[in-house]
Amino acid sequence: MVRHKGALSSWAIDRYFPHQVALPSDDAFRTRYDEIAALAKDLLAAPLGHSVRHEGQWYTVYCFTDPESANTFRERFDGVPFNPKDRGKGTDWSRWRKLPWNREIKLRELPDDATFAHLTSWEELYAYCLACGHIGFVDRQALNGRINGKTRLRSLERRLRCSKCKIIGDSMFGVASAPR
Ligand SMILES: [Zn+2]
Repeated sequence: MVRHKGALSSWAIDRYFPHQVALPSDDAFRTRYDEIAALAKDLLAAPLGHSVRHEGQWYTVYCFTDPESANTFRERFDGVPFNPKDRGKGTDWSRWRKLPWNREIKLRELPDDATFAHLTSWEELYAYCLACGHIGFVDRQALNGRINGKTRLRSLERRLRCSKCKIIGDSMFGVASAPR
């Protein structure tokens, strides 16, 4: 698994260090960098970290072999769990394809195989734009007649158009519980 010069491919990191934590690369990060690097070393984090961005903020990702080390690290520095599958594909590798966790609307991710039939009457459907951060309400009633009930919602994401920045294919679905 170790290549020359000790560098690991992102494939090898995800395979052998699947428990990953993202820390915002902000002023607090720079101030505490030595402390962060020391704990990462103690917990045997992958020698090569990587960076991802979400809503304009860059995050440095630390990769661990076991969940306990990742949790210790995350709790100490107030990090965010990073799932390797949420990394962008191809040239878009640095994009963190994740719903926002710090907004008024608490969105949950849809399972990969979710269809309209999965949604309950008390769940509201939203489209979250990764390009500009806009969260748009999706009218399920309006879509209902136009889309086969067995279609996977995730497969429709590439056709979503952001109502704010107008970019097509850069949005994710999320669901929230309707207010009672
Ligand atoms: Zn947008």
